[in-house]
Amino acid sequence: MKLPLSRASLSHVYPVRNTYVLCLLMSNIWSQCLQLLHTRVNDHSVATWLDPIICESVTHDRIVLSVPNNFFIGWIQDNYLDMIKEIITDLTSTGLQIDFRSRNELSADVPGDKSSRPSEVSHRSGSAISDSFALKHRLNPLYTFESFVVGKCNDFSHAAAVAVSEKLAGSYNPLFIYADVGLGKTHLMSSIGYAVLSKDKTKKVYFTTSEEFTNETINAIQHDKMAYFRNKYRHVDLLLIDDIQFLARKERTQEEFFHTFNSLYENRKQIVITCDRFHNEISGIEERLKSRFGWGLVADMTMPELETRVAILKRKAYEDSVTIPDDVAFFLAEQADSNIRELVGSLIRLVAMSTLQGMPMTLELAEKCFKEKLNRPPKTVTVDEIISHVSKTFDVKVADIKSRKKHKLYSRPRQVAMYLARDLTELSYPEIGQAFGGKDHSTVIYATRKIEKELEKNRPLKSQVEGLKKDIKG
Ligand code: ADP
Ligand code: MG
Repeated sequence: MKLPLSRASLSHVYPVRNTYVLCLLMSNIWSQCLQLLHTRVNDHSVATWLDPIICESVTHDRIVLSVPNNFFIGWIQDNYLDMIKEIITDLTSTGLQIDFRSRNELSADVPGDKSSRPSEVSHRSGSAISDSFALKHRLNPLYTFESFVVGKCNDFSHAAAVAVSEKLAGSYNPLFIYADVGLGKTHLMSSIGYAVLSKDKTKKVYFTTSEEFTNETINAIQHDKMAYFRNKYRHVDLLLIDDIQFLARKERTQEEFFHTFNSLYENRKQIVITCDRFHNEISGIEERLKSRFGWGLVADMTMPELETRVAILKRKAYEDSVTIPDDVAFFLAEQADSNIRELVGSLIRLVAMSTLQGMPMTLELAEKCFKEKLNRPPKTVTVDEIISHVSKTFDVKVADIKSRKKHKLYSRPRQVAMYLARDLTELSYPEIGQAFGGKDHSTVIYATRKIEKELEKNRPLKSQVEGLKKDIKG
């Protein structure tokens, strides 16, 4: 779809003297461009390179994009500039000159309190390695222990990650970190690699995602390069493999990963794995792999509480040399209640809006920025949807969940579904009972309390219920 966004074509629709309107319209170009980039670039690269870009200004012939540091500029120019140019030309018909600026340089232009702004932001611990050295190891230089905010939600995983970085292949091998999307898995895992290399540059650290591992397996098979592939993976000191859940149902890749795992483990090399769920709950992964994932230490992270979210926002603002007032930070942290990536995104959006409009970052501006989100009605979930998801997860029929059968095989999923119905809908206990084939409200109360209590100590159940919630909410 081409959007006629040149100044000339806009002039008959919007008065050109209203440069503010023009500016806002043009600024949409970047969000549209980003959406299209998302379809072409893998998630990891989008999160590392493209999401941190802020569109600073757009005129009829020029777009200024700011990035965290100078290294980003070079990387984006080398890897993504052609793609960005092509998309922008497509969107505007005429194309725009694209200029990049490092945010360190830009800090003087950002409205707000300048007195407390750091002149240089440190996100590294100890003897830091250069950004390019980190990138050569496929590590995001911004993802370090120092820039990772610790709270109750992640202190266990954080402590485990630090311990692993201090002693590779000690007691915590493999380290399996699981958490919902956007809760800092990649950040924490990358920090381990960064810390290890900071201490010893000769260590062989390799970061990959399970999708890349899959592609490499396929390529190696296709081009008869299995020996090279195995040599590469089996001779590292530290293998960081992100989002292992994507190995599901890829049998040949799982086979290859199984041997890679064994070889590294037997040779006392460290493996760190991240996943969006508890290892025993990943469907489509062979049992022998799942059990290996639990051999070392399994650690989880949950959504940070409000104060930690505020601390994360402040840390991110600090890295971007922006000062965020407390009331604005609390407002943003209250809005983002499901993942930190969303929280970071909201800050980026607010900084962009503040810069674009030349206005300080006030609560008023933040509320304006979120108006659309605040007005959006939450997705409504029906009991039947919940029962259908639960029936698939527990592999029982919907009719059995709604039945009066007492066997644990049916009562367990029924109780989980009742708990979810209470949690995800506004229905009363009697209404839920009705939707479960006419059960008494006391049955629903009993089921809900039982699951609530179990969730406090039964981690696999917690992970399963969280996975279900995620699936149900879409
Ligand atoms: P995941 O891999 O779990 O989907 P990421 O590691 O990509 O999540 O984190 C998403 C964003 O949130 C990143 O910008 C990351 O730096 C930030 N983030 C997550 N947790 C923290 C934390 N504890 N401290 C600072 N930033 C965090
Ligand atoms: Mg990740």
